[in-house]
Amino acid sequence: MTRSFQPPQRILMGPGPSDVHPRVLAAMARPTIGHLDPEFIRMMDDVKRMLQYAFRTKNEMTFVVSAPGSAGMEAAIVNMVEPEDKVVVCINGVFGGRMKSIVERCGGVAVPVEQEWGRAIDPNALEDTLKQHPDAKFVAFVHAETSTGALSDAKTLAEIAHRHNCMVIVDAVTSLGGSPLEVDRWELDVVYSGSQKCLSAPPGLSPITFNERAVAHIRNRKTPVQSWFLDVNLLMQYWGGETKRAYHHTAPINNLYGLHEALVMLEEEGIEEAWKRHAENSARLQQGLASLGMEYFVPEGERIPQLNAVKIPEGVDDAAIRSRLLNEFHLEIGAGLGPMAGKIWRIGLMGAASTTRNVLYCVSALREVLK
Ligand SMILES: *Cc1c(COP(=O)(O)O)cnc(C)c1O
Repeated sequence: MTRSFQPPQRILMGPGPSDVHPRVLAAMARPTIGHLDPEFIRMMDDVKRMLQYAFRTKNEMTFVVSAPGSAGMEAAIVNMVEPEDKVVVCINGVFGGRMKSIVERCGGVAVPVEQEWGRAIDPNALEDTLKQHPDAKFVAFVHAETSTGALSDAKTLAEIAHRHNCMVIVDAVTSLGGSPLEVDRWELDVVYSGSQKCLSAPPGLSPITFNERAVAHIRNRKTPVQSWFLDVNLLMQYWGGETKRAYHHTAPINNLYGLHEALVMLEEEGIEEAWKRHAENSARLQQGLASLGMEYFVPEGERIPQLNAVKIPEGVDDAAIRSRLLNEFHLEIGAGLGPMAGKIWRIGLMGAASTTRNVLYCVSALREVLK
């Protein structure tokens, strides 16, 4: 007989998932009800309202894609981009590259703005590219590039894009709830995120928001959205405000209970307080790592507080150290992704995992294993 799975208790300080608070896990264990049950619909309305709070937006079209962050990325691009549309894609890591790949799969023409990995996107490089491509319709970029630890200036990039008559598609998977993100004030047209980074809910859900300009654009498409599952026109009949809910797909009911509770906790703390906590704990971690002689990969001023990318010290066995942290300390930190493998570690301080206690524990554990 196979026995029930009992996962070990870990401290998750990698690039996501982050630690899930017991309140969120408890919420997920509540009874499953029908996804068209009036009580469930009331819960969905709460989720939508709390996401508007987290995204700092009044966008009516704010909801949750029933799949992980990559599906949010796909939903954003597949709804906005039609075949032959030109999209300027800023690439300073793995996730910018993924955006480009999705644009091309939609039949769009991707024009890359390549940036050295570990650096924020250079606004001047975006401006130059847009001058060379006056027919571009969209600019896509990653706010917090989790693969390298670099935070770009979303406000400035969006201003430049709008000046060149482009709408912006923004990846806020790692930034939402962790660093300042102002969807309305910065006029970000389409923004998606993920449940398992700074919101600290389990993976598998992707919050997304479209402003009125983006919605009008989708309504005026010449071609149907290539994806049935991710077509916003259909999804909104399910998540929509005034209209009667129509069956689209069976929502991941208990997973949404978890996200609901995570958002309740974010409201209780206050979004600005959450930004502050992430910044303060990152500052503490930077001090601790400096005391171990470790160096950051990203220059100061361009770092994501909730994802600290540090250079693996000379002569240190990357995999051996991470496995000792996991086995002896039950502590997970992130390896380098793609070309960064073996070069950096990514220490996450996301959501419920962003605590002073975790900072001190991580620094002590590293001191021990690096001896
Ligand atoms: C994690 C992440 C994604 C992908 O999210 P999944 O839930 O793993 O699909 C996309 N973009 C960024 C910046 C991320 O950090």
